[in-house]
Amino acid sequence: MSQPEKITKNSDGELVVPDHAIIPFIEGDGIGPDIWRATQAVIDGAVKTAFNGERKIHWRELSVGEKGYKKDGQWLSDEALADIREHMVAIKGPLTTPVGEGIRSLNVSIRQKLDLFACIRPVKYIESVPSPMKNPRDINMVVFRENTEDVYAGIEWAAGSEEAERVCTFLRDTMGADLPENPGIGIKPISAKNTKRLVAKAIEYAIENDYSSVTLMHKGNIMKFTEGAFRNWGYEVALEQYRDRIITEDELWDTYGGKQPAGRIVIKDRIADMLFQQTLLRPEEFGVIATPNLNGDYISDALAAQVGGLGMAPGANVSNDCAVFEATHGTAPKYAGLDKVNPSSLILSGALMLDHIGWKDAGNLIRTSLQATVQAGKVTYDLARQIEGAKEVTCSAFGQAIVARMG
Ligand code: NAP
Repeated sequence: MSQPEKITKNSDGELVVPDHAIIPFIEGDGIGPDIWRATQAVIDGAVKTAFNGERKIHWRELSVGEKGYKKDGQWLSDEALADIREHMVAIKGPLTTPVGEGIRSLNVSIRQKLDLFACIRPVKYIESVPSPMKNPRDINMVVFRENTEDVYAGIEWAAGSEEAERVCTFLRDTMGADLPENPGIGIKPISAKNTKRLVAKAIEYAIENDYSSVTLMHKGNIMKFTEGAFRNWGYEVALEQYRDRIITEDELWDTYGGKQPAGRIVIKDRIADMLFQQTLLRPEEFGVIATPNLNGDYISDALAAQVGGLGMAPGANVSNDCAVFEATHGTAPKYAGLDKVNPSSLILSGALMLDHIGWKDAGNLIRTSLQATVQAGKVTYDLARQIEGAKEVTCSAFGQAIVARMG
């Protein structure tokens, strides 16, 4: 039998994935162990079936969160972070936010320390899942949310604090700003470098996955030098680096008479509030969406709701060096250990991870088997309470039902 090996990169920066690949996982807190058990069985089953037993993932557990704290007093150790960096690909369940431990959020810490600058959230309808939309099948979008700046940078001071007072004095006296009395202050940095690396990733994803457009979502009509600059830098990187693969929306109409040429992605932009309307009214017009942090926060969850909510939404946080795939919901502590909740978010994140390492046949097998299981009405409590006639099954039984459909 082949020895387990690490995933590496070649000189072109492409992943080199051995048939017996080592992948670290963090099972997570609360419902984490339940959904991880179901997910691991589904991923292993899909890889085995898709590649006739010739490929296998060798799982490597990292103790992070409550497990890490119990083991060696550390919620998130440097060793765990180094391990993810070294193995380039990892998957995680939800992590609790330690209260009163001086850590804002373990998830935020992981993203910041590994510089995982893009949060990727695909949103696609799964047949039979209850949706508030008239035509949910028209929804097939992927949000690329910037992870490292905008309001997420957390530069803010409380009203009445000495720091806020000093900033206010500077703004009033030196910059001539008109401020209300005693305001809280927040600063929103958006840079060319971080915008361009995010938009470049979004365009590359659109090229690799056959999406026909990348939409730059912004509020540049009001915040010209942050959100407006995001839009301008987005077009700049598209034209500088991908000229032969893209056209702008203006070029689509002025040069091509509205007919999109084959092999070219349309780069367009929409003001954030308008995009919320248009993704509801004409979702088929949008593919990949690239956006600063706060807009991305709102639109990711709003789109997830259109196809059945966060319990079904996969996600990943990526840099140019590594990628961490994760459930998009939290630890739901009241259901911990009950083998009850829906593992679909983590399972579908696993499918995304398999796509990322080039094992797309296994990723597709997961998606089709999960869809067939839901269509057959075998679902966890959250969907059972919405689908008439559905049979409620446990978290693990749902996973087993998906594996059973793979043969
Ligand atoms: P939550 O854990 O996402 O749970 C809120 C509610 O969402 C649950 O009570 C349940 O609703 C539903 N839900 C969540 N996951 C589900 C699943 N897999 N299947 C079915 N239903 C599911 O949000 P929270 O209670 O606000 O947060 C709890 C902890 O999680 C906090 O410590 C928070 O910091 C952390 N958190 C972690 C992450 C992450 O690791 N990425 C993200 C968000 C929050 P019903 O009760 O209606 O059934």
